[in-house]
Order: sequence, then structure tokens, then C-alpha cells
Amino acid sequence: MTYDSNNIFAKILRGEIPSHKIYEDEHTLAFMDVMPQCDGHCLVIPKAPSRGLLDTDPAVLALVMPVVQKVAKAAVAAMGADGFQLRQYNEAAAGQTVFHLHFHIFPMKEGVPLRGHVGKMADHEVLAEQAKAIKVHLT
Ligand code: AMP
Repeated sequence: MTYDSNNIFAKILRGEIPSHKIYEDEHTLAFMDVMPQCDGHCLVIPKAPSRGLLDTDPAVLALVMPVVQKVAKAAVAAMGADGFQLRQYNEAAAGQTVFHLHFHIFPMKEGVPLRGHVGKMADHEVLAEQAKAIKVHLT
């Protein structure tokens, strides 16, 4: 399987479509998921192109994972969550719908189940507020 540079996250990286950004550095971008499965559902992606975990250069993973940790910590604090899930889907058979490597962060509260994968679009004002709240907790 090859990387298709017309995927939606590549377009976000090129600034062709908007996103609610949380964090950006030379190698990574974190932004809100537009069809959130919980409050504060966000995504962390490398800027380098790869479809999933298996075709990603380990050197890229080494740059992305500290950002996953940093954003997860901030998202949990901002949402007042009790914990979080980290998920990453590889290929359609496993549920992947956007073919640019991404890590899902789901801040979770005791007893509150996740909503369905790729469900309802969120209100953009709510996403903007959540992105702002998460940014405040970035250290
Ligand atoms: P996956 O199914 O693991 O490939 O996840 C793709 C995720 O991207 C889903 O949770 C979608 O809700 C999310 N998504 C799709 N389009 C956008 C977009 N334009 N901005 C932010 N998130 C998106």
C-alpha cells in the first residue's frame, strides 16, 4: 500500500483545509478530531508521510511519541478526565479511514463510554473551546 498525499490530514498539514490546532512543532501536529468519540478527542500526527505504524520510520516515531504523551497529559487535565485511551488503526480492515499515521487520544471519565468511531460532526465552537483548554495545559 502506498501513501496518497491527497488524504485529509495531508491537506490539513498543507493548510488546504482548516483544523482546530492544539500543538505544532517541526515534526508533529496535534488537532481536534471533528467527529469526536468523547470530549477532548484529539489526534497527533507526524508531518512526515506514512500510512500507518508499519511504514513509519522509527526515527519519526521517536519524535511523535513524546508529543502524544504531552498532548494526552494536557487533554486529561483540561477535560478533568480520570484516564485516557490511546488508539491507532492500521488499514481499512482494522477501521482506519484516513491513511496518514495518527494517534487518537480519548480522555475518559469513569462510567462514560466512548461514542462510535467516525460518527457525528461536532460543533466547531465546542472544538475551538476544547482546543483552547487543552493548549492551556500544555507544558
Ligand atoms: P481513523 O478512522 O483511525 O483513520 O481516524 C480518522 C479520524 O479522523 C476519525 O476519528 C475522524 O473523525 C477524523 N477526521 C476525519 N476528517 C477530519 C478532519 N478534517 N479534521 C479532523 N479530524 C478528522
